[in-house]
Amino acid sequence: MKAQRDLFAQHTALSAEPPSLFAEIVFNRPLEQSFTYGVPRHLEDRLQPGQRVQVPLGRGNRPALGYCVAVSRNRPECEVKPILAIVDEKPLLTPALLELTRWMADYYFCTWGQVLDAVVPAGAKTGVGLRQKLFVEAVPETELPIPPPRLTPRQREALETLRLETSPVEAAVLAQRVGCGVTVIQELIRKGMARGFRQDVEKVRFRPEPTPEAEPPPELNTDQLRVLAAISEALLQGGFQPFLLHGVTGSGKTEIYLRAIEQCVAQGREALVLVPEISLTPQTIRRFRGRFSRVAVLHSHLSDSERGHYWRQIAAGEVQVIVGARSAVFAPTRRLGLIVVDEEHESSFKQEITPRYHARDLAVLRAKIEKIPVVLGSATPSLESWHNAQQGRYRLLSLPRRVLELPMPIVQLVDLRHEPPARGPYRAISPTLERAMRETLDRGGQILLLLNRRGFSTFLLCPACGEAMKCRFCDVTLTYHRDREVLLCHYCGYEQLPPDGCPHCGLRQMKFLGLGTERLEAELSQKFPGVSALRMDSDSMRRAGAHARAFEAFRRGEVRILFGTQMIAKGLDFPNVTLVGVIHADIALHIPDFRSAERTFQLLAQVAGRTGRGPAGGRVLVQTFNPEQPCIHLAARHDYVAFAEAELRHRRELGYPPFTRLVRILLRAKDGELVRQESDRLAETFRQRLARTAKRKPTVRLLGPAETPVARLKGYYRYHFQLQSPSASALHELLREVWSDFKPSRGVDVSVDVDPYNLL
Ligand code: ADP
Ligand code: ZN
Repeated sequence: MKAQRDLFAQHTALSAEPPSLFAEIVFNRPLEQSFTYGVPRHLEDRLQPGQRVQVPLGRGNRPALGYCVAVSRNRPECEVKPILAIVDEKPLLTPALLELTRWMADYYFCTWGQVLDAVVPAGAKTGVGLRQKLFVEAVPETELPIPPPRLTPRQREALETLRLETSPVEAAVLAQRVGCGVTVIQELIRKGMARGFRQDVEKVRFRPEPTPEAEPPPELNTDQLRVLAAISEALLQGGFQPFLLHGVTGSGKTEIYLRAIEQCVAQGREALVLVPEISLTPQTIRRFRGRFSRVAVLHSHLSDSERGHYWRQIAAGEVQVIVGARSAVFAPTRRLGLIVVDEEHESSFKQEITPRYHARDLAVLRAKIEKIPVVLGSATPSLESWHNAQQGRYRLLSLPRRVLELPMPIVQLVDLRHEPPARGPYRAISPTLERAMRETLDRGGQILLLLNRRGFSTFLLCPACGEAMKCRFCDVTLTYHRDREVLLCHYCGYEQLPPDGCPHCGLRQMKFLGLGTERLEAELSQKFPGVSALRMDSDSMRRAGAHARAFEAFRRGEVRILFGTQMIAKGLDFPNVTLVGVIHADIALHIPDFRSAERTFQLLAQVAGRTGRGPAGGRVLVQTFNPEQPCIHLAARHDYVAFAEAELRHRRELGYPPFTRLVRILLRAKDGELVRQESDRLAETFRQRLARTAKRKPTVRLLGPAETPVARLKGYYRYHFQLQSPSASALHELLREVWSDFKPSRGVDVSVDVDPYNLL
């Protein structure tokens, strides 16, 4: 710190000459505006928007790290402080990314500096994975020192070798070639016979992964040709064009992406493919690597230095195709030609910490900024995107049939209200499902079973006093995990040993209620002894590579029954799966969230899509207590369009998205009374503002405040309310107004979530 202060003093002394270039700097702090600094003459040629700089900040002139977002010759009115140093050799962000992040700051209600700092990966900021190396080149004849210095034989030998080089060479490499130490070369530099400079090089050379044997691409069918023609035309024309590709599971959407990307790469441009993290399966990756030689796969298990390496490689234009989860939307490509968002309906595209962006929405915006086509693909598009297509904002392309004339699987609903009660309590597998499983196994088929709940039993209840075991920090019941013999909170990770008896009344026999994947496992081994079954959930798949190994075992047929949480529902393509069973279709239905029907429909459609992909066909059994719910019976008929129409009608009546925009304001504090009062005060501030501007159209509605459905989380009491309006800008305006005169009390944390996906 002291050294940095000295640096500042030195600079202020040096910069007697007033600057003529000025830079806008933003900081990773809740500071709304940017600050103008003077650019010292010696930095003028080097400073570019997108670089980080060191500047004095505030009254104490403490050195701070900021992002340069613009430079100009316009002299500001007031006195400016000087930039102390440039931190990054090259800009970390492209002009398009600067524009995108600026929009994000406005839209998601945080500061530009916070957004920038969040989107640039640590590995790109710190340069981990880079090493500075000394490079040398010979000094040209005309610039040699006079009189010529005296050289040792070794030095002369090194110089002669160096003069044979046509470009700078690494000092260590030269030394090795000559058979001398690096000091010999350093002496040449000192004596003025060679020039040395340091340059960052990658510590590890990432070799492109060996390309797997590429299967010959299939010949496209007429539906695919029609869809591809539309995208091709957009690629040829250039310019922003958003497409929504609605194609049933197994209709050949990925094949379309691959062809469109081939065309984009042939134009000398790069393509960006966003997929949900869970779909970054070896199967998907192999398909991309099989077609393209330079693919970067950005998943969440990369180390900082690997991430930094890819970032630099992408920025240098060395990558053709980037396949990655949410944050890949910020890949610093310079010649982006196409963006694809696969499974665009997935809620994992929404980031749940600041900045709370939605990667699909950013993909569309980025395409607009870069003036390129963007393809959103799904078998079950989000209602937001479907509505956009209906309104003509996106061009709708559809693939209504599976490839190779394969039929959609037959889906049968098993009404659990009328199933003959099985012996004993809490059976996961109804007699109907059990029969179907036996038939499938007899015929040599494989089975997928979906149960979207981890653990053994979802709560532990005392039958005498009715108390359930709850988390110490959250207002939720603890899940019993039999594998590890613990009670676990799925919200905060708190765990404890199961008690011997009820902590309230001391009764010894607590009841294990609710059904999780571990209990299903027990039931399977009891009903199907000797049949190999494998559980797939975040508990059993903790180790790196566990996923890939499990799928491989299933593909080879060593595992007959694969069962687990939604992990098994996505993107798998196994021709021998002839039965899919859904243990409990209603789990998501009862979550207090206006999207619960949509999520239920999506999950059922996705899991049903895992069967019927081979010549043996396939069937699906869905166990439910609510067979008359549209999201369940329409999923059984594969009727997305009817579901979307019905659900959109419902949303319009209730004023929910996509007909309105939502903003969720969440307050949390350790003190329950304080947060309740504070949420009342904040909501009141909003109400007063609203009353004052009631005449101003369009309207904003305020819902709440109320305790959140999970009233206490990780030790914090929580209240929330929602703002609802047909106009996003009306919401933004209101937020700005209120925030300018509301300061939350100490100890209360307030967060603003624009377009929220999590309402718990
Ligand atoms: P989706 O992404 O819609 O689920 P995919 O593109 O993964 O569909 O295609 C499903 C399977 O069908 C893949 O194995 C793919 O190679 C194959 N496939 C795609 N298009 C064709 C086609 N026109 N003819 C034959 N097989 C195809
Ligand atoms: Zn908890």
